[in-house]
Amino acid sequence: MRRLGEAARNPGRSQKNDRSEVSGLNTESFKSIAERADSDTIYSILSRSLRVDWKEYVALVAKLRGKGLFPILVGVILSQNTSDKNSIRAFEKLRAEIGVGIDDILRARLEDIEASIREAGLWKQKAAAIKRAAEEISKAGGEKYLSSEDPVRLREFLLSIKGIGFKTVDVFLSVAREAPFFAIDTHAMRIAIRWGLIRRRSYGEASRAFLELFGPQRAEETHRLLIALGRRYCRARKPLCGECPVRDLCPSSSKYLGKS
Ligand code: SF4
Repeated sequence: MRRLGEAARNPGRSQKNDRSEVSGLNTESFKSIAERADSDTIYSILSRSLRVDWKEYVALVAKLRGKGLFPILVGVILSQNTSDKNSIRAFEKLRAEIGVGIDDILRARLEDIEASIREAGLWKQKAAAIKRAAEEISKAGGEKYLSSEDPVRLREFLLSIKGIGFKTVDVFLSVAREAPFFAIDTHAMRIAIRWGLIRRRSYGEASRAFLELFGPQRAEETHRLLIALGRRYCRARKPLCGECPVRDLCPSSSKYLGKS
């Protein structure tokens, strides 16, 4: 479990508590999903009942459409604060008009990158982050550096680049390097709380909890399954607990079912 320990030493930024998520639960009898079922059972329910289409995830689109690992980072930066649908459109436009390799980005003018990625929103910040990332990674050794540097050191390096945060770097490393980091997006955070794995919104705690629950081997796949679960059933408002495949194991289902 050495690698799990390494990942666990890198907690994300703490975010504000969301007590509303855990209020209303009977804490006396509250047992997290991890105390109700083992990892294989939960994984098997998720993988049997949820469809993951690579065309709906910008990181997977970038992995299949681009050459090398840098395009994956570009795709994940584009997905910050927007939907995969918008970021995929922006990625494809950037790929067609400028290219998504390190050299393509180094050669391009910042204004042209901005114009190509407008559909992703926040185009000025994202174009600057993509440009900065290309410059810093190029100085460090380019694609060779991305593919061969120790994942823990690479994580630290990428986090030092302005515009690249914990979620971006963890999605990138798990997709590009199959490294043992569990990326937490808004769906995974909500589910971690509803499953009773964490008591407050904390990137590092949620990431560690899922990594411990599913293990490093399944981190990337279960990250996508949780997004699918969040999109289809475990919505922020009015989760569809009655139809949810994990309702018999989820400690929050009775809370929501009781209200409907
Ligand atoms: S049972 Fe409800 S709260 Fe639990 S994971 Fe499913 S939708 Fe979310």
